[in-house]
Amino acid sequence: MSSTTSILSIDDSIDHRCPNPNQTLNNRVDNKFDCPVCHFLSQRQFQVSGYWVRQCEACGHQFAELRDRNSHISRCYSDDYFSGGGAGYADYLGEQRLLVGRGRWYARRVSRFCGPGAVLDIGAAAGFTLAGFRETGWTTQGIEPNTTMAQHARQRLGLLVEHATLETWEANSTFDLVLMLQVLPHFLDPAGALCKAAKLVRPGGHLLIETWDRESWTARLFGRHWHEYSPPSVLHWFSRPSVIRLARAAGFEPLMSGLPSKWIGAAHAKSVLRHKAQSSIFNRLALIVARLTPDRLSVPYLGDDLFWALFRKV
Ligand SMILES: [Zn+2]
Repeated sequence: MSSTTSILSIDDSIDHRCPNPNQTLNNRVDNKFDCPVCHFLSQRQFQVSGYWVRQCEACGHQFAELRDRNSHISRCYSDDYFSGGGAGYADYLGEQRLLVGRGRWYARRVSRFCGPGAVLDIGAAAGFTLAGFRETGWTTQGIEPNTTMAQHARQRLGLLVEHATLETWEANSTFDLVLMLQVLPHFLDPAGALCKAAKLVRPGGHLLIETWDRESWTARLFGRHWHEYSPPSVLHWFSRPSVIRLARAAGFEPLMSGLPSKWIGAAHAKSVLRHKAQSSIFNRLALIVARLTPDRLSVPYLGDDLFWALFRKV
């Protein structure tokens, strides 16, 4: 897929500031299921895997109705998430070459705004993206809630990746660039997560977000059978405007946005399609095509539903 970039100019009509620091990230969104982006009322839309997907009546943000928030992270991001298939990965460690390449690609992408410095990857997994940044001269650090992945990053790649969650992690310094690549939809409280991220970016530093776009043509085509409707690991379904609103509220200004150059392993593609195969004719057809590709090969991701956006801390 070709990469496109554009200067973002989204009207920010919603203004909510970072929460009182005495409130924790996990208890700030209450159980009445108000919208976590604008705090307006929401309505149930449809069910996926036994979870209701709710939609805000004001801003349209969609989020999962998650009633049991206790131990959500440990339940969702066990080793099975990285190797058990389904909504997670069939073999995350097998994606090393692709993900190191993703790191190099993003390092080149942001070089117009920030040169090599200190970068923090939130949800660093096995450290592959950080390894790509390290190759281009960045000083790397990461946090990851899965013990096995963090250990792999330290022992196999020699990277400083701590076993920690963003909600509880305390940094010793600030960073020139913070990465949140495909992690924002997994937070119980994404607004709080962005406020915590803002504290980790030095003044004038940058934040890079990559996430899925529910307003893309791909998401619209598949409707409720879209692959990203996979609660409880995915809890939020953003659009570009909703990500920008949350980032602005946390103290960031948008600089650029675009579609990533994304390749995925054939084994991963087949695993995701198998997970969704019963849900729609589109997914069954895609699975038939994907089965023609050997597991060891990579395939270009043709959807337009993943985007990145670079922000500067004001
Ligand atoms: Zn809303």
